[in-house]
Amino acid sequence: MRGRDAIIIGGGFYGLRIALHLRQKLGFRSVLVLEREPQVMQRASYVNQARVHNGYHYPRSILTAYRSRVNLPYFLTEFADAIVDNFDHYYAIASRLSRTNGRQFELFCDRIGATYEPAEPRAMNWFNPQMVESVYLVTEPAFNSVTLRSILLDRIAAVGGISVSTSDEAFHVEQAGSALSVHSSTGIHKAEVVISATYSRLNDLHRSSQVAVIPVQHELTEMALVELESPFAESGITVMDGPFFSLMPYPDRGMHTLSHVRYTPHHRWRESGTEPFSPRPSTELESLPEKSRFREMYADVLRYVPALATMRQVDSLWEVKTVLTKSDKDDSRPILFKPDHGLKNLTTIMGGKLDNVYDVLDELSSYYA
Ligand SMILES: Cc1cc2nc3c(=O)[nH]c(=O)nc-3n(C[C@H](O)[C@H](O)[C@H](O)COP(=O)(O)OP(=O)(O)OC[C@H]3O[C@@H](n4cnc5c(N)ncnc54)[C@H](O)[C@@H]3O)c2cc1C
Repeated sequence: MRGRDAIIIGGGFYGLRIALHLRQKLGFRSVLVLEREPQVMQRASYVNQARVHNGYHYPRSILTAYRSRVNLPYFLTEFADAIVDNFDHYYAIASRLSRTNGRQFELFCDRIGATYEPAEPRAMNWFNPQMVESVYLVTEPAFNSVTLRSILLDRIAAVGGISVSTSDEAFHVEQAGSALSVHSSTGIHKAEVVISATYSRLNDLHRSSQVAVIPVQHELTEMALVELESPFAESGITVMDGPFFSLMPYPDRGMHTLSHVRYTPHHRWRESGTEPFSPRPSTELESLPEKSRFREMYADVLRYVPALATMRQVDSLWEVKTVLTKSDKDDSRPILFKPDHGLKNLTTIMGGKLDNVYDVLDELSSYYA
């Protein structure tokens, strides 16, 4: 496929990183990235928990945990300037309702080769001993998504041959002889290869292009942006493994995100193409719930870590989170890679988390080499 042109629909982390891969590794002549927002990386690649996964989060899916371990070093090396590791990250195991216990968590970490150590007494004392059975200090950094965007845009400018067109929505894709044409806000664009990296909106494009809907599950999510006092300001806390909370540094705003398995999703819905009505991710984001769920999250946090009472909500971040339907049960994050999806050379991809990008790049290399 050397010397070909490609259009990538979606200028999130995936779309930009794939554009570089097509140009630098797969010899594509030119790549056009279409992004509907006025700026790239404004959607899920900005609104997320900023965790560079090292596997700990997935005790129910050994494959996802293992792939996180494999991909982490690549991500840390490639995006070193965006990595934030100046905080202590604790994973606490809840004594009730957790699907794992301390011993199982240790065995799981040993199995995937992820380091951990018992939290020091100072940190242990933060937790309510009736609610938490064990606490571990782990190695799992965060990323700054704005720095990530700068790194990618600088590389795109340096490589050449990649145009990024913002405020440019792709409406549909159709066959045009041996090529594909993409109808967008700025006109009709043609290329041999089209890659859809539209994340939560993947099926909007599939519907308008009259190709099959891919079964996914969406959640309208709210993460509270909170200010914490020391020593929590220099820490991350994740309570495992069930309906608990997580506090992660959110480097771009110099605060933390507070998310909660029970309260962060305001509602969830499946999209399989067979429902009589399926809400569109775009319309859900345009009509947000009036009420933040911060109070509910906060009340639950205090049951586990009473000293977090001084936490203050500053804002909330909203986004539609999309996972493959099969991820529902085991909380896994496999990639979606669908080449020739309904149209020859239309490839739809979706990565459940940022570091999965390397699995997607491997698939692209095999397919378009
Ligand atoms: C609440 C939440 C927390 C998360 N936490 C983490 C975490 O801690 N760590 C982690 O690794 N991952 C996390 N994730 C997952 C991660 O954010 C996503 O896997 C990743 O951002 C997906 O990147 P993307 O480029 O595919 O999606 P996006 O960044 O959403 O990019 C898709 C782009 O396509 C554009 N687009 C859509 N349709 C069209 C169209 N028709 N025409 C033109 N442009 C279009 C959109 O505007 C968007 O910019 C989280 C996600 C959410 C929602």
